[in-house]
Amino acid sequence: MMLSIEIFGKPTRFYCNLSNFTVIYTEACQLNSNTLVQGGKVARKSFAIQLSVGFAEVFMGIFTLSVALVADGIQAFADAGVSLIIWIGLRISRRGPDGKFHFGYYRAETFSSIIAAFFMASLGGIVLYSSYVELLNPTPIANAEIAMIVALLATTVSVVLLFYKNRAAKKYTSLALKTDASNSIKDVLTSLTALIGIALSKYFNIYQADAIAGIVISLFVFTMVYSIIKEASLVLMDACECSEVVTGVKDVARSFKQVKQVHGLRMRKLGPYIIGDLHVVVDGDLTVREAGKIAHEIEERLRKEFDEVIEIKVIMDPDEPVAASDGGQ
Ligand SMILES: [Zn+2]
Repeated sequence: MMLSIEIFGKPTRFYCNLSNFTVIYTEACQLNSNTLVQGGKVARKSFAIQLSVGFAEVFMGIFTLSVALVADGIQAFADAGVSLIIWIGLRISRRGPDGKFHFGYYRAETFSSIIAAFFMASLGGIVLYSSYVELLNPTPIANAEIAMIVALLATTVSVVLLFYKNRAAKKYTSLALKTDASNSIKDVLTSLTALIGIALSKYFNIYQADAIAGIVISLFVFTMVYSIIKEASLVLMDACECSEVVTGVKDVARSFKQVKQVHGLRMRKLGPYIIGDLHVVVDGDLTVREAGKIAHEIEERLRKEFDEVIEIKVIMDPDEPVAASDGGQ
């Protein structure tokens, strides 16, 4: 999937806010076109493989009465679903501003991750509840060997995908793929948990082990829900953990010879981007035309230098005292 994006007339990259969950999402976060194509291929392949494994696990889990195996399968579906929802959100967020949404659709990205979190929490709840019911009335696993083979297969697939993605991430120097690879570590752990649970149930007759493994897997799911919601809430609350950009923006503004002082810089996230405003103090005797030209030049430079900054308003202050309502800082 190629994404050629033009925002305010310049090609712009998408930033990956959500650090843990990328499969299809990975595609949308790539900048370099080779990275985009290759990264997209890797992501699509692993997405399809993961889905098939998840399907096999749910099917065989029901067949062998192993709640842990079903849990691991649902966990894989949850992953895939989240990637899909966030990907749709990213697509919507690419739409330009219109008569109703004057500031564009950027927040669709954040909005979609919250929906994804609710979706994931529901699946986590189902896994937790069914594991709990099983814990109260533990039953031996039927055909435990088959269940173990499926769990072992799922673990192996996740390990192979992990190495594959790590290698691809190095080869194409893709940060998004690297993040995606770290997601595979979680898949390895959950499949391994299911395997151990089934083995304990089979060889040590600890029938609760299967249910406990299911509960542990649901905790993995809830951990992901937590980090999605945390990340999205920060963006919704206009948090800007962007000290590098703050310093950079100030430096660029100060580098203009007419600028005597910079203050009142505020920035916030808008979906995957950053917008904001800052005050610059200039000679009070400049004409409006001259001041406007400088402001425009600073804005242009800032947008050019910082990919994630899509809009920044420069407010001109004359170098003699100004009104008390001035931006401060
Ligand atoms: Zn000011």
